[in-house]
Amino acid sequence: MVMPRPRVVVVGAGVAGLTAARYLSGSFDVVVVDKGRGVGGRLATRRIGDATFDHGAQFITTHTPEFAEVVAGWERAGVARPWFQGRIGRNGIIDPDGHTRFRGVATMNAIAKHLAEGLDVRVSSRVVALAPSDAGWRMRLDDATDVAADAVVLTAPVPQALALLAAGHVVLSAGDAQALQAIRYEPCLAVLAALDGPSGLGGPGAVSPAEGSIDWMADNSRKGVSTVPAVTIHATAEFSRSHLESSDEIVIEELVRAAELRAKPIEGQAQVQRWRFARPTRVHPERCLVLEGLPPLVCAGDAFGGAKVEGAALSGTAASEAVSSLLGQADPPMRKSASVEDR
Ligand SMILES: Cc1cc2nc3c(=O)[nH]c(=O)nc-3n(C[C@H](O)[C@H](O)[C@H](O)COP(=O)(O)OP(=O)(O)OC[C@H]3O[C@@H](n4cnc5c(N)ncnc54)[C@H](O)[C@@H]3O)c2cc1C
Repeated sequence: MVMPRPRVVVVGAGVAGLTAARYLSGSFDVVVVDKGRGVGGRLATRRIGDATFDHGAQFITTHTPEFAEVVAGWERAGVARPWFQGRIGRNGIIDPDGHTRFRGVATMNAIAKHLAEGLDVRVSSRVVALAPSDAGWRMRLDDATDVAADAVVLTAPVPQALALLAAGHVVLSAGDAQALQAIRYEPCLAVLAALDGPSGLGGPGAVSPAEGSIDWMADNSRKGVSTVPAVTIHATAEFSRSHLESSDEIVIEELVRAAELRAKPIEGQAQVQRWRFARPTRVHPERCLVLEGLPPLVCAGDAFGGAKVEGAALSGTAASEAVSSLLGQADPPMRKSASVEDR
């Protein structure tokens, strides 16, 4: 008799969750659930009219050989390519010898779609509670259905992950509670505006004043994301914190004024995205956290081990290793490139 494979449910179809799911799918029955309408999480792209915007992560850098190999796989698969070299300042690139900035082809979200290929991903599925059961975990979704799992990889931003555990009446060990509560994020308000002409942004189509109200601006048409002029403006953490509850009109007006673009937003084609947990500012020292004294549950994401897309990917890999070991997988399918070409 063939034994059913253990089921792993991955909460979150961002880079961390999809990376973990890809590795785990070789040995387990893996389901990924995400509350969003599509995959990618903060690797996000949106359309407004004819304009297309990367409005979360803007580019990818590699600082470890492991992740450089992953990005090389994405390049070979045609979903990533270099955008520019070095750090961007107020007037363009300020250290041309710095790290290569990779972008998605054609969008950042295309990388997430690539990672999701062949996986059982259920979007528009919000987990509202996670509770231990005799067999592992029981997950309540917002449509009032339950999903059972032998193990869980939880990649929602940590405050949201803690809320799911609290809703399931999970009692964390003192050490785990302290570790998770220590993690901090900063918000980022993003304005996405289709323009009535070229933005006037120089260099590779991006600037990073990092003062006043604007942290970063990118011209999505110069980047190759949009066929028509379209700018993404990211506010500084300070502006974002103080305007989290301001109306969209105020946020758009203030950031567009500060941007001093050559062209104007097209009426009705500017939107605000409120990233409440944009970037972790205090991360957990390990790449994932296995909760103590509970059925197998591994917390992962960019708040574990290192921020950014790289940190999220490496955390996803670490989480898959931890789950494999918790479920007694003798020879976990680790270290293969997280690229579909290699599946
Ligand atoms: C404005 C901005 C700019 C950035 N710029 C860069 C950059 O240039 N370079 C860089 O490397 N990084 C950048 N980052 C950071 C980068 O985007 C993240 O580090 C990375 O995408 C995080 O991936 P993740 O999988 O850990 O989390 P996420 O992408 O946040 O994925 C978590 C997923 O969990 C889902 N989820 C949450 N709660 C539930 C629930 N209850 N039920 C079901 N699903 C749930 C969410 O919908 C989400 O899809 C930026 C981020 C932002 C917001």
